[in-house]
Amino acid sequence: MPMLPSPLPNRYNNRMSSAAPDLRSPIQFLKGVGTQRAEMLHRIGLHRAQDLLFYFPRDYQDMTERRTFDQLEESGKVQTIVGTIEEWTKKSTARGEMLTLIVDCGGKGYLKGLWFKMPFIMREFAKGRRVMLSGKPKFDYPFWIMMHPQITYLADNEEEEGIEPYLPIYPLTEGLKQFHLRRILRNMLPDYTPLLEEVFPETFLTGHKLLPIDEAVRNIHFPQSHEARIWARRRFVYQELFILQLGLAIRRQQHQTHLKALPIKFDRHIDSRIRQRFPFDLTKAQEKVIKEIVTDMSQPVPMNRLLQGDVGSGKTCVAVYAMLLAAASGCQSVFMAPTEVLARQHLRTLSRMMEKSQIRIAQLFGGQKPSERAMHLHDIKTGAAQIVVGTQAIIHSEIPFQKLGLVIIDEQHKFGVRQRAALKVSSGITFEPHYLVMTATPIPRSVTMTMFGDLEVSVMNELPPGRQPVKTYIADAERRTAWWDFVARKIREEHWQGYVVVPLIEDTEEFDAKSLQTTYDQLSSGPLKEFRLAMMHGRMSTEEKERIMFEFRTGEIDLLIATTVIEVGVDVPNANLLTVESAERFGLSQLHQLRGRIGRGKHPGYCTVFCNTATAESQKRLKAFEKTPDGFKLAEKDFEIRGAGDLFGTQQHGIPPFRAADLVRDRDVLMEARADAAELVHSDPGLALPEHAKLRKQMLNRYGAVLNLGDVG
Ligand code: ADP
Ligand code: MG
Repeated sequence: MPMLPSPLPNRYNNRMSSAAPDLRSPIQFLKGVGTQRAEMLHRIGLHRAQDLLFYFPRDYQDMTERRTFDQLEESGKVQTIVGTIEEWTKKSTARGEMLTLIVDCGGKGYLKGLWFKMPFIMREFAKGRRVMLSGKPKFDYPFWIMMHPQITYLADNEEEEGIEPYLPIYPLTEGLKQFHLRRILRNMLPDYTPLLEEVFPETFLTGHKLLPIDEAVRNIHFPQSHEARIWARRRFVYQELFILQLGLAIRRQQHQTHLKALPIKFDRHIDSRIRQRFPFDLTKAQEKVIKEIVTDMSQPVPMNRLLQGDVGSGKTCVAVYAMLLAAASGCQSVFMAPTEVLARQHLRTLSRMMEKSQIRIAQLFGGQKPSERAMHLHDIKTGAAQIVVGTQAIIHSEIPFQKLGLVIIDEQHKFGVRQRAALKVSSGITFEPHYLVMTATPIPRSVTMTMFGDLEVSVMNELPPGRQPVKTYIADAERRTAWWDFVARKIREEHWQGYVVVPLIEDTEEFDAKSLQTTYDQLSSGPLKEFRLAMMHGRMSTEEKERIMFEFRTGEIDLLIATTVIEVGVDVPNANLLTVESAERFGLSQLHQLRGRIGRGKHPGYCTVFCNTATAESQKRLKAFEKTPDGFKLAEKDFEIRGAGDLFGTQQHGIPPFRAADLVRDRDVLMEARADAAELVHSDPGLALPEHAKLRKQMLNRYGAVLNLGDVG
């Protein structure tokens, strides 16, 4: 067990000040700020004293190896030395522009800093300016030399004020210098940190190894040791994650206590009747998930479940099972897909499965004729239709269900699960439907717990038997001829079909990437001219897309050249060949989705990706893609390579991005915070106890609206 450091003697503790400090006082009145600097600080969102306290360093400069000129050594260790700028030169060399800075180290000797190809560093140089250089020194008579040293500018008397063992490095803005912020914070910390309000009860702090808020704020800015810095950061990461987990736990609790659903009946007879509709045995994973769903749906509280299943794991079947179960209890279900192509595919699958049964399916699509729509709405209203299939756009209109028992949202990869509340069920209904959200975009566990932390989660990571893994290759341009030969042979001899996916519809000046038209022109006049090729993209009308999908499914089209419209859910088992052009333009999960379109039948799939301009990062991603067939493992890798940034960038889930926590780095703290939050909400439902009032308030301020928590307690 790690131990909390004992409070370090802190030289900021005992200063006195004449004006009464106030956390909410405007920034310009703080010592060392003034109107001009206040404006700069406003630009980075800092307005009040407290904002500064919570403006955390992005990094630190390690000052523990402080040396004087005589103490420098060629040990390979990073060392830091202070001096004043004497002169500098810039010249062209074979390695590019070289910058040389000569620093006078207190009259004892000179240190040379050398930088290549970094002329911008020079902008801040001025004779006589105090600087601190950190690097690995080498002696070259009569100079000590540092290559690419880290440089920090000191305020004139900053050194006399004393320099901390770790200097904070803040995100800056034009005109603002590190030493400005350092100085402002040094000045204010002693007076302002005692005013900070502690949200955690004291026993909680000690029980969970958290630094008190004042100490944490002091140590995040000016840690006295490496450990102090780690503990300070932990406090803020924990708090941030804990507060969200509290919100999620309360949301879950409210859901269970306030909402009522119709319990759905289950017995062996119903079960075997449903199973008769499947032409195959269910996989173990499907069985497990169905069991979880059956258990949820038999409760008088609505199911709220997220099903993550890798591409091709057979989620549709699970959905069908749940809908037939609801129907057996006389309840209606609605099955929504993100695109019309997909919704129509579901409609076809369902219609086939429901042949010669009592089940009627109504359909709601965007471009429907009014008379047709009216007919379907009538069937829904009278209860003649037990299943409604449509696009997610129907979420936004009011549908007159007779007795809605189950809502299934397929391919919810856009993270908009909280749309739940948006589905309007016509008035007079006192029961909430059960909810099942399905996604084929595996998400790292830590992200699931954060964004979907209020949902139950099922995972399906097994493919139906007989499925052969897709063989994936990253190829360079020279392999093109061989690849198209292979594709041609497979189409000619085995009547396989395939997809070619490109990032753009038309060529643009903006990016250097393959477009749909160019690819089509090249292939149809070159290596694949004997075959039937077609194009498909998102700007086509629905009828056009439907017609092309129909011809592809029935084998009239051999090769479909498309944008990512085929990314999600499309199921054509005879398609075994996939080519991705300009693959660097696609994310890993997108590529995995695309790969999931092939190898869905009895033959192995072949996927070849070409890239146009691969950066080191995209190369890393593509390598991971080539080597990892499992969508869940791939998601974790993608997450490690790219971080959580763009998941949170979308804002669609409504949870604001974290300030301190990093879901890749802080996975363990997340687990801890989640468990602790669940425990707290269990022991104090609604956080009604006075000692939890501050936690409750902070949680409501931050997440009350986003999580739709309404009145807590
Ligand atoms: P996804 O999870 O990607 O939505 P689908 O539900 O579209 O996957 O299923 C993929 C394919 O696997 C479909 O053709 C489906 O009929 C088939 N399938 C599903 N479950 C099984 C099973 N247990 N055994 C054999 N094939 C199955
Ligand atoms: Mg699907």
